[in-house]
Amino acid sequence: MKPSTHRPTQAIINLAAIQANIENFKKYTGNNTDIWAVVKANGYGHGANDVAQCANDLVSGFCISNLDEAIELRSHGIVKPILVLSGIVPEDIHIAVNLRITVTVPSLNWLKLVVQHLENVETEHLKFHIKVDSGMGRIGVTTFREANEIIALADQYGMVFDGIFTHFATADEVAQEKFESQWTKFESIVSDLSRRPQYVHSSNSAAGIWHKETIQDIERLGDAMYGLNPSGQTLDMTYEITPALELKSELTHIKTVEKGETIGYGATFVADRPTIVGTVPIGYADGWTRDMTGFYVLVNGEKCPIIGRISMDQMTIALNEKLPIGTKVTLIGHDGDKKITVDDIAAHRGTINYEVVCLLSDRIKRIYI
Ligand SMILES: *Cc1c(COP(=O)(O)O)cnc(C)c1O
Repeated sequence: MKPSTHRPTQAIINLAAIQANIENFKKYTGNNTDIWAVVKANGYGHGANDVAQCANDLVSGFCISNLDEAIELRSHGIVKPILVLSGIVPEDIHIAVNLRITVTVPSLNWLKLVVQHLENVETEHLKFHIKVDSGMGRIGVTTFREANEIIALADQYGMVFDGIFTHFATADEVAQEKFESQWTKFESIVSDLSRRPQYVHSSNSAAGIWHKETIQDIERLGDAMYGLNPSGQTLDMTYEITPALELKSELTHIKTVEKGETIGYGATFVADRPTIVGTVPIGYADGWTRDMTGFYVLVNGEKCPIIGRISMDQMTIALNEKLPIGTKVTLIGHDGDKKITVDDIAAHRGTINYEVVCLLSDRIKRIYI
């Protein structure tokens, strides 16, 4: 979908905040931490390429979730290592190798399928990281034997065993038991490898922030780079972060409805008194989901409740006064001395900040400052 540029709704992305968030993470963990910026899902809604370009000089590599996202970065001139965090389709191995994209090996069976598709593939450029499932339960090997069989098979074909990694399920929680068991399991598999690769890594934002002793060779920094606390409001940040994204729009229509009149689909909002209603051009097709009814936005530094159902492309708010068309509306970010954070929205929806920013659709124009 092309962004709607002739509409006042826009996400404003502060690239300097992203850079400062990376630098502050480095200061917190020791300046020699090797960071691979996680820019999957269009950079958590912030724009993968723009984030990658602004982070490029501060990080050693990038992580994305599928081959297409990696191709996008390469096509925009990113030359640093790129790791695809999940298993790609075995038939596509030549694409990864041609673009020097590092792949994840989620199982021995996957690598056996890849071996059937190596015609014209320069295997000396087939770089891979083995994924260890230490308790997340999605992909990865669960024994050192399987890891060593992968290494042996890869060696037969001259592939490059570049790394091994795991992913924690609960690094953002207070309880430590699951985290400790995953860490112990990963450490034990790594220590039984037939050889250690260049990169051993396990740390996402949460592990880097609250368990920095587990960072090893690479930090895979996602949520915190965007200025979001990966635990939401559960654990306190250990260093300073600045949210990088604001979401703004404007009033496109203002009217007064009389007592008893209804607003929106289903006529669910019924005015109990004369009410000034403003219309804002954002809806569920923008990732501004229907459960945002009952939340609020900021207009002239005041909270204004969202009333009626959220439509596909528009929503309605109750205003304190008649305001002109074009008046600024803040959906995420600062207005005067008030602000709305991504976590406020996540709490209202019963979800996590990750989901709120990832859902902001391509239709929303991104502006970079
Ligand atoms: C998404 C992802 C990350 C980044 O996680 P954050 O919590 O955003 O830092 C790291 N590693 C893997 C395997 C991931 O899938």
